[in-house]
Amino acid sequence: MIRELHEKLINKGITAEQLALDYFDVIKKKDKDIFAYLTLTNEMALEQARGVDAKIARGEKIELLEGIPGAIKDNLCISGVRTTASSKILDNYIAPYDATVIKRLKEAGAVFLGKTNCDEFAMGSSTENSAYGNTKNPLDITRVPGGSSGGSAAAVAAQEAVWSLGTDTGGSIRQPASLCGVVGLKPTYGRVSRHGAIAMASSLEQIGPFAKTVEDVAIILSAIAGQDKMDATTAHSSCKDYTKYLTGEVKGLKIGIVSEYISGLGEKEKKSIQEVIDTYRKLGAEIREIQLPYSKYSLPVYYIIQPCEVSSNLARYDGIRYGLSVNDEKDSDFPTGGMPKKLLETYLDSRRYGLGAEVKRRIMLGTYALSSGYYDAYYLKAQKVRTLIKKDFEKVFEDVDLILIPTALSPAFKIGEKTEDPLAMYLEDIFTVTANVVGVPAISVPGPEVEVDGKKLPFGFQLMGKWFDEENVLNAAHAYEINK
Ligand code: GLN
Repeated sequence: MIRELHEKLINKGITAEQLALDYFDVIKKKDKDIFAYLTLTNEMALEQARGVDAKIARGEKIELLEGIPGAIKDNLCISGVRTTASSKILDNYIAPYDATVIKRLKEAGAVFLGKTNCDEFAMGSSTENSAYGNTKNPLDITRVPGGSSGGSAAAVAAQEAVWSLGTDTGGSIRQPASLCGVVGLKPTYGRVSRHGAIAMASSLEQIGPFAKTVEDVAIILSAIAGQDKMDATTAHSSCKDYTKYLTGEVKGLKIGIVSEYISGLGEKEKKSIQEVIDTYRKLGAEIREIQLPYSKYSLPVYYIIQPCEVSSNLARYDGIRYGLSVNDEKDSDFPTGGMPKKLLETYLDSRRYGLGAEVKRRIMLGTYALSSGYYDAYYLKAQKVRTLIKKDFEKVFEDVDLILIPTALSPAFKIGEKTEDPLAMYLEDIFTVTANVVGVPAISVPGPEVEVDGKKLPFGFQLMGKWFDEENVLNAAHAYEINK
């Protein structure tokens, strides 16, 4: 899709400005029902687009991403643009700088249409934890788009953006990609700089792209990947053009499957995954049964480590340094009772009114697990088990190139279906958290659809690769996409 739009731009079939305006038209028509966007950046988009048009008019060569409109999850900073992470505590926060991914996309000439809705501070699996209202699944608006990057997935699925960025700490790119029928990639930990991403659980998260095709995802990854001195966890590796690896050839590639992961699925979901496996077999890949014995602990390990890191990262929202402060007259419409004057009351009330229920739950869980006396039993133990899970992967990757598992348990569930049951919501992450716990790259690709209540809905499959082997992950995903 990006390549076609690029051709159209250089052949003067459309101007970049008109392209952006067309997308704003679609947003205007559809987004009142879907609510993928929290903020539109019309002026910025048109200015970026006009810059590209001027280049074309001067007869200069433009790169693939120049003039191509996309959307940015609202936990990524764009200088001068409101950045809320879908939280009331950042309701009035205007980012003073660009995240590194934004800086790189600007340099690549991409156009930003706006900021997308997500679960508050990226915690959740349905976008129902946003303080601003929930995004709906464009394929069935009675259902969730997944989360936490639900707005980014829905924007692409609804043709309200060509591509988008999300963040993935435990599945927040891949699960919404599966539920909305688009492609979503979580890169290897260290592949993409998180500078300017609103930190949530720093040892787990990565920024990554959504798009309709694997090639488009590869194009965005090529623009955002690479070392950055502002994020010390980014790895030394030269920037690559990932599209060069999309040969569509998987003959001889060894793909591991874990039978327990598949046998636990419903019949229709099982059939969908089985068809994907058959397709790879037909394409000449070698399918091997593998064992990941410790991976059954990934979900409990994640739900210890993630809240611990949340409790520490979110301590910065104290009503003094960022956003909402209940002592601030501007926010006097908040129900503060007798306006608190003391510093402690400012801390407490800013957090009480500024943070939502799920965020508070994670902060409490994390604070508990990190407290003296419990640290060894929970946090330290979880880190040890994390190492064991990682060792499983190291061993398996001696035998196979990729691992194929489901992305989610089922297609999109109904709005409200899991909101009363946090554990059911956490279970939604069962297949995705492992890649974050061990740090490997993982992609979700739309597989055969699954029928629910007489309606066919998207259902993705997931490919996990070796550390820093996005090339094989993307190429195998591409091979399926062009041969299914
Ligand atoms: N659903 C997971 C959670 O709620 C993952 C979130 C994410 O990847 N940002 O923590």
